[in-house]
Amino acid sequence: MKIEDLTPENVGGLSLADLLYLRDRVTQIYNSRFKGNLTKAARFSSKGRLYAVVERSDLLLKNQILVREIKSRGQELKSVSPIDREMWKQSMKTLDVGSLPRIIVIENFAAIQGEYLEAPKTSDLLSVVFKCQATEMSEAAVTEVIEKIHAATQKDIACEFNISGPEADHVPAYDLVLVPRHVTQKASAPANNSRIIKYENTGQAPIYSKWNIEAERDAMDMEKREKAAAWIDEKLPVSFLKFRMIHHRSEDGKVVLRGLQKAMGDLMDIRRGARIPEDERRQVYEHLAKHYREFEKEPPPFRALKADRRTILKPYPNEHACRLLDPAGFEGFSRITRSTADGKEYSVIYGIRTVDGKRVSAEQAYRYPKSGWTEKEARAHCREHKGISFEAAIEKEDIRFKILKIDAEKQIVGGIVYEPNKVDTQEEYTDAKEIERAQIAFMEKYGTDTNRIKIQHQGQSFYFPIIESFIPEQPTKKGKDIIPAGAWWLMIKITSKVIWEEIKAGRLTGFSMGGTAKHA
Ligand SMILES: [Zn+2]
Repeated sequence: MKIEDLTPENVGGLSLADLLYLRDRVTQIYNSRFKGNLTKAARFSSKGRLYAVVERSDLLLKNQILVREIKSRGQELKSVSPIDREMWKQSMKTLDVGSLPRIIVIENFAAIQGEYLEAPKTSDLLSVVFKCQATEMSEAAVTEVIEKIHAATQKDIACEFNISGPEADHVPAYDLVLVPRHVTQKASAPANNSRIIKYENTGQAPIYSKWNIEAERDAMDMEKREKAAAWIDEKLPVSFLKFRMIHHRSEDGKVVLRGLQKAMGDLMDIRRGARIPEDERRQVYEHLAKHYREFEKEPPPFRALKADRRTILKPYPNEHACRLLDPAGFEGFSRITRSTADGKEYSVIYGIRTVDGKRVSAEQAYRYPKSGWTEKEARAHCREHKGISFEAAIEKEDIRFKILKIDAEKQIVGGIVYEPNKVDTQEEYTDAKEIERAQIAFMEKYGTDTNRIKIQHQGQSFYFPIIESFIPEQPTKKGKDIIPAGAWWLMIKITSKVIWEEIKAGRLTGFSMGGTAKHA
């Protein structure tokens, strides 16, 4: 009998030898044509002539018929082959995600470029270009790529986003791929981060009406602001920044032409407009464009923001950092070494941007190697040069504090910072003595430098009062938890409303403390 002719009705008439032969044939076909791929049908031809088409689903079905029949005759299968596994998976659920192929989202995606390629030994700065918009990648994914490259090269990493990809010679480092997951994850509804305000014709103010955005905004309550704006940034707490591109006036809701023009200008501005996702920018544009036509004016053409760039610099464990200008305004960075009058070396980071089509640079930051500069000296130099902020080099690895217990009423969280002889995140054992030393060092410093508790998601530091900090000599009960002997237990009061909301929502599960790691 041929495989194609096999049915549940006629299988009973076959001899065991025939069954085993067909079973071998089925597994052979599967292994040669379907294993490891998603092919739906295999075509068999000879000398240019097609003589059979075998469908995957049909082959699985025939295998099932054969296996059942063989087992019903008291025979065990010699071996379980891939076709059995697929058959089994399909009987368990309708879709096996593991069989889905990887999807390449963006080709050749994170690339290394810049001076590092020419002089990897002497260059301190390695530049990574992501070929996408910053908003297309999660902060966590970006951080991971940077951390991996940093770990491999020990270089400072500057990164930028450029939807048209690297502009110079480059070496692709990572492809961005979506990998199918076997683990079922509870999907949470995507957070509604922004809102586009619908267009509405509310009338036009006289064409030469004055416009003072601050005065207008101040005169409005929240409800009015919502109607007067074109876009709301839901990520921001209630503040004047939340309502964007206000163009209706407060007294009667009419559109003021000058306000409208200002709003359109903001939308097309590479820095202001870049906060808005590109597809939403388009909708905001349509809203504003309709108002232009109410004034019988032609709106300016819609322009995509060519490149959405952002820079993240690794924290510098061996250098003190002095910031002169906000890095957000620059498209790229370069770094040189310079000496002071008395021969002390330090590095200058130049920020590069395009002004009127020309590349111009400005001193954006200084870095002082810890080996040659004390924190005090570096700080003084920074102040002399009108630095806007200063970060001392990281002295030690950050201490991680994982929240174990939340007291909702008192707004207090507690957790074990270090537990003796337990592998920590650095994969090192910490002994009881070290824990004690860490606690003392931390508490001493906390007395004078209170911004040592750092929130993981926004790179901000906070001062939170410490309610309890102790290391029990015996295992100690704390509510439902047992604190092991020698572990460092810490409880802090969360005095920031924003952070408290994050913790309650389960989005924030820990802090890092002690280090002074900051973004450059
Ligand atoms: Zn409007």
